[in-house]
Amino acid sequence: MIMDQLTLATRTQLTSQTGLEDLIPDLTGDTISFAGGLPDPAQFPKQAISDSFQRVLANNGLDALQYHNAKGYLPLREQLAARLARENTHIDANEIILTQGAQQGLDLTAKLLLNKGDHIVVEAPTYVGALAAFAAYEPRYHEIPLENDGLDLTLLNKVLLTQKIKLIYTIPNFQNPTGIVMSLAKRQQLIELANRYDVIILEDDPYHDLRFAGESLPSLKALDTEGRVISLGSFSKVLAPGLRIGWLVAAPALLRQIRYLKDGADLESPTLPQQVISDYLIHNDFDAHLDSLRKNYLVKRNWMLDALRKNLPAGFTYTQPEGGFFLWLTGPKSLNFERLLREEVAPKEHLLYVPSTHLYASNQVLNSARLSYATYDQATIELGIQKLSRALTAEALR
Ligand code: PMP
Repeated sequence: MIMDQLTLATRTQLTSQTGLEDLIPDLTGDTISFAGGLPDPAQFPKQAISDSFQRVLANNGLDALQYHNAKGYLPLREQLAARLARENTHIDANEIILTQGAQQGLDLTAKLLLNKGDHIVVEAPTYVGALAAFAAYEPRYHEIPLENDGLDLTLLNKVLLTQKIKLIYTIPNFQNPTGIVMSLAKRQQLIELANRYDVIILEDDPYHDLRFAGESLPSLKALDTEGRVISLGSFSKVLAPGLRIGWLVAAPALLRQIRYLKDGADLESPTLPQQVISDYLIHNDFDAHLDSLRKNYLVKRNWMLDALRKNLPAGFTYTQPEGGFFLWLTGPKSLNFERLLREEVAPKEHLLYVPSTHLYASNQVLNSARLSYATYDQATIELGIQKLSRALTAEALR
């Protein structure tokens, strides 16, 4: 039977509208992509993960291959709780559920809270995958612009005064797409605002351990005084996204409901990778691995910043992230990064980036782009930035 658009639920039509599938095709041949948030594959601890798979299957194989429960492998939840305690987030293993990446945490949280038409706050710009997850629940967006130190809280306060907001979605560390970090003062004020206006905060923090410069700051969950922060983490950026394991931390009453939703979604996250990660954490020095990741990504960030400094035409600004994978390039008001990608940069230069259009709930900002420095070596980063700069220079002369 041929599926007619009219037979699809409205949520399906909405979720198919991130618009990036056509713009950012699968990689072929000589294409350089600064678009995806792919970790540097040279940093995957392939041998150690392989050893853990062998050990888990040899020692505990029948259990690892069996069904378990939606909350996830208890020893791994305990290991996570112990790691979080080192950073002053004191929670019990029972306040953690293991998810299929942080991405599933976005979906489950939205499913938990949002009725059609509910009002939510998102950063402007924000993570496109979050917009894709939320779209299925048909919320109304209020975009709050980012300043150099995070959300514009004056504007947020105004929105909270005039509108019943159910959820505030934020990426406080090395924000995707801008690389911006929310300051400590703003983190504290945000918690106060959420308490005052009775709002849930969704803290999405997959880049948490990838700070390579500056002071590390307490998570929103660590500052939470009323159990109204739901916090997401992930092993994707710090071990390997192919394992598809992340976690969600929430107050027990919320977590109970999320557990039921996860039962309905997928019964449980795959057990084998959960046990493999747990084993990996026992047999390896994860902190040393994180140190080496941070050094690696700092070097890569510097390669991209140097290349931008040397090659970009006048009239552009860009962020200088202290961690994570992304920087945010902004050009003159008249520049349309999406058109440029479609007509010039992708077909002629074989280069990809993410234009700003799809990273705003309103789709209205055209003159910025997200560049990832995470994936490539120095020569490829330099070549990619030269290609981009050539296209931007030609565009300025048009
Ligand atoms: N949140 C943010 C901000 C991200 O950048 C990503 C990955 N691009 C995710 C969530 C999802 O990551 P995963 O599901 O692999 O943990």
